[in-house]
Amino acid sequence: MTDKRQRNPIGGHVPVAGGLAASGISYADDIGAEAVQVFVANPRGWATTSGKPEQDEKFRDACAERGVPAYVHAPYLINFGSHTQATADNSVSSLRHSLRRGREIGARGVVVHTGAATGGRSRETALAQVKLLLRPVLEDLTDDDPWLLLEPTAGQGFSLCSQVGELEPYFEALGRHPRLGVCLDTCHVFAAGHDLAAPGGVKRTLDELEAVTGPGRLKLIHANDSKDVAGAHKDRHANIGAGHIGTDPFAELMVHPATEGVPLVIETPGRKEGHAADVARLKELRERR
Ligand SMILES: [Zn+2]
Repeated sequence: MTDKRQRNPIGGHVPVAGGLAASGISYADDIGAEAVQVFVANPRGWATTSGKPEQDEKFRDACAERGVPAYVHAPYLINFGSHTQATADNSVSSLRHSLRRGREIGARGVVVHTGAATGGRSRETALAQVKLLLRPVLEDLTDDDPWLLLEPTAGQGFSLCSQVGELEPYFEALGRHPRLGVCLDTCHVFAAGHDLAAPGGVKRTLDELEAVTGPGRLKLIHANDSKDVAGAHKDRHANIGAGHIGTDPFAELMVHPATEGVPLVIETPGRKEGHAADVARLKELRERR
């Protein structure tokens, strides 16, 4: 049991309105979370807020006591491929804020979406801008800072990275920086065309991911089922087992060598009871083998 928990802690994204420790930790306890993810800013805005040092400390202590690793999800508006100068500028300051707050709360990683080439610009132009904007951010990270975790999207619009193979040019653009990792969202990768529900689908996808990024880059999994079929390019999360991925692929995921030590965090619909049920279901699947 303990071994399996260490191999793949299972938890969820927790709401923190009312205080990181005061709200976030009690929610995590209520759903049985062994790993947590939080927002440290409005996920749909650019406004940044400074933390409350005593909440930060309580949060860090509570996570340490429970042996629960913490992660930050950066705001959704961030797009390093944007043709709009204001969006590009805001993306940098917003991500730097999430990284700083991540360090303050003891987070292991900060998740950021890989973005899109907007305004009719080419992927090459957009990726060149990703390189220009993100490299200095990476260069400023020390060993005490969180990892920067790239989360491929569902492939909607002019997404820069949705299929696993598209991580290759992205990693290249960022010089395969040592603090660069991946957060794989099961719903996104399924929507992007990797059929995790097909026989061997999980193995194929994770083998390819490891071949592209090299070993040890997968740092977090967003465990979400999908309301839509494989390849639909739609980002609609479903509760575990209630979508087109189903339960078996999650069990397979937790025995693949690439997921050794990698936490699973749910971002599924519903409220606390539903989240607790998803966490419990994933724990059952983890015990299967
Ligand atoms: Zn996600």
